[in-house]
Amino acid sequence: MDLLNILACPTCKGPLTKKGSFLLCNKCSLAFPIQEGVPNLLPEEAWPLKKAQKACFRHTLKL
Ligand SMILES: [Zn+2]
Repeated sequence: MDLLNILACPTCKGPLTKKGSFLLCNKCSLAFPIQEGVPNLLPEEAWPLKKAQKACFRHTLKL
């Protein structure tokens, strides 16, 4: 089973796209960090899409 198929944006319920270490919602312009293989879908911990873009979709966050 592909994990991405069951994940939706917590804000708009739209589809998420994996890019680097993030799951992106283009509609909300949010980037949800994937930490140690686990997507963090808390809206308050999401990055603005532009910030993730500047970081080349990489982060160094730990759990
Ligand atoms: Zn969204």
